[in-house]
Amino acid sequence: MKEPDAHADVPAATGELIRLDKVTKRFGNHTVLDRLDFTVDAGKHVTLIGPSGSGKTTILRMLMTLTKPDEGTITVAGQRLFPAGEKQVREIRKSIGMVFQHFNLFPNMKVLRNITEAPVTVLGLSKDEAEQRARELLDLVGLSDHLDKYPTQLSGGQQQRVAIARALAMRPQVLLLDEVTSALDPELVAGVLDVLRDIAHTTDITMLCVTHEMNFARDISDRVLMFDSGRVIEAGTPEKIFSEPEQPRTREFLSAVL
Ligand code: ADP
Repeated sequence: MKEPDAHADVPAATGELIRLDKVTKRFGNHTVLDRLDFTVDAGKHVTLIGPSGSGKTTILRMLMTLTKPDEGTITVAGQRLFPAGEKQVREIRKSIGMVFQHFNLFPNMKVLRNITEAPVTVLGLSKDEAEQRARELLDLVGLSDHLDKYPTQLSGGQQQRVAIARALAMRPQVLLLDEVTSALDPELVAGVLDVLRDIAHTTDITMLCVTHEMNFARDISDRVLMFDSGRVIEAGTPEKIFSEPEQPRTREFLSAVL
């Protein structure tokens, strides 16, 4: 696979890229995140693990501004994402890409257009520039032969690889990955994880990843955060978390999933 030009015209950021300060999120009476603090440095790959319902996806959705915290602050590249005005939020959103569990491709658009749509309408790229970028990314995800198909003509794994290309087409500084293989048939999982491994190892993009694929997490992560009930109960390198977890709750979770 060819190295993508994910940041060809954007200087690589250094230092802290994402900061959550005392972020609380409630749904009704249920406190999903409880005064959560964490940071992600530029270029690093951070994986969130933990039991279902512990608040991991909610964090990604807040960064994508699909849901708002009730309290606390979120900062991306030194700019306030929450609380912030709409204009600032729109600007910051351009630097964040997300891949969802259920692909969420535009069903009425062919693969190429799925990838060019946002770069043209949001970034103002010409159709030619956007198509060139899309072709490079389709090459990266191994789907150059499928650019003229509709999403329903592709397997789930292929659709997810299009979704990855679509997110990268915006040249985001950070890629949010929300259980991107959970909806796939088992035989399609490896192809998607291989593409993501490749991106993690060959680009300087920052990744924040929620996954139940522990081998993948071990391969790509600089840091792993173990969540339980809306709090980080343990954090460290993958070697530490997977080989020498300190918290009984982490050991219990890992023995159930590994
Ligand atoms: P995880 O990703 O760790 O499985 P989530 O962030 O998806 O956890 O969910 C955390 C909790 O928040 C769960 O109990 C879930 O049911 C609840 N939740 C998430 N989104 C909503 C929503 N839109 N309305 C009500 N409850 C929600």
